[in-house]
Order: sequence, then structure tokens, then C-alpha cells
Amino acid sequence: MSEQRKFQARCASCDHFMVPRVVFRGGEPSHSICPFCGVQVKSFVSSEDAFAFGKALGRLWKMSSVEKGFVDSLVQGGFGAASAHRMFKVFKVALLVGIVYLMS
Ligand SMILES: [Zn+2]
Repeated sequence: MSEQRKFQARCASCDHFMVPRVVFRGGEPSHSICPFCGVQVKSFVSSEDAFAFGKALGRLWKMSSVEKGFVDSLVQGGFGAASAHRMFKVFKVALLVGIVYLMS
């Protein structure tokens, strides 16, 4: 692996070797994107945001299965199955951060 390659990652979307570009929102790093195709590489969601996510998920957890089914269909209809799956991965991380925050 060349010296240059060490600082690069392969984009999962367009397969280019690239150095992710960080996008700032409100003076804070929000997420990084691939400079070739613009797909999000990494999210830098703050712990507070993640905690809010975790709380929202906790509320979702208490819902009845009928309500859960309704939310699922909303998510599926709004974002499509692929991005719903990606969101679920983010939620899992957010829930973990929320739990850690509660215990600390
Ligand atoms: Zn890309």
C-alpha cells in the first residue's frame, strides 16, 4: 500500500479511492462525504443528538406492535427499504450511546 493510500478510503458507493470531505453544520462537523459521488461516508452526530435518538427509540420500543407497524410502513414508504436499513444501523448506535449516557 502506498503512503498516499493510507489516508484514503474506498467509497462503498462509487468504488473510488478518496479522502472523505467533512461537511460542517452550525460550526460542528456533521458528516463526511465522498468528493466523487457525494454519498455520506461517516456521520459525526453529537452525543446529545444520539441521546435524543436513543430516547425517541425508547419511546418507539414501548409502542404497541400495531403502532410499530405503522411507523415501519411510514419509514419504508418515506425512505425506501435500503435507507431504512441504513437508518436502523444509525439508530442501533444511537441507542447504545443513549444507554451509556444514562448509566454514566
Ligand atoms: Zn463515492
